[in-house]
Amino acid sequence: MMSNNPVICYISLGSNLDNPVKQLKQAINELSVLDNGMLLLQSGLYQSSPMGPQDQADFINAVVKLETTLSADELLAQLQAIEQRHKRIRTQHWGPRTLDLDLLLYGNKTINTGNLQVPHPGIPERGFVLYPLYEIAPDLEIPTGESGSALLKELVAKCKDKTTTKYSKN
Ligand code: AMP
Repeated sequence: MMSNNPVICYISLGSNLDNPVKQLKQAINELSVLDNGMLLLQSGLYQSSPMGPQDQADFINAVVKLETTLSADELLAQLQAIEQRHKRIRTQHWGPRTLDLDLLLYGNKTINTGNLQVPHPGIPERGFVLYPLYEIAPDLEIPTGESGSALLKELVAKCKDKTTTKYSKN
């Protein structure tokens, strides 16, 4: 693998199947031992109502901060390998899943290729991403392309998702 300069990344985790708290803790552990990476921070756990079909369990969510020398594509491949190890079942769009890992931010880069969109387009309206991200990076600026940016704290203030709460049973 190419060795690049270290880049700070944020990754969101979600699960609503097969002991979600355990799925997330294991996934965070796997992220912490990634080659070419170092886990810097992890948020607490959050609970959110599912997007889309409502006949499924609530999700458990978290966000981690990682420093890595992997390229964005290499990191995405690692995230997908971790998802596969968690026997991710992908039967239905927005359906239940054992583990969903999304690359939220890769440094201050904006990426729009066939299989990767960074910053992740769901960030602004998803409380289950915004709240844990804000917990570990309150001063973050989200690149919006053409050298513009949005302040995370303003996105949090505008967020209409009221279903996400801190998960207290960990
Ligand atoms: P899902 O797991 O349903 O969120 O979607 C997975 C697909 O989204 C994969 O095929 C990825 O190539 C694509 N994708 C695009 N941008 C991202 C991103 N920032 N993080 C993770 N997956 C992404």
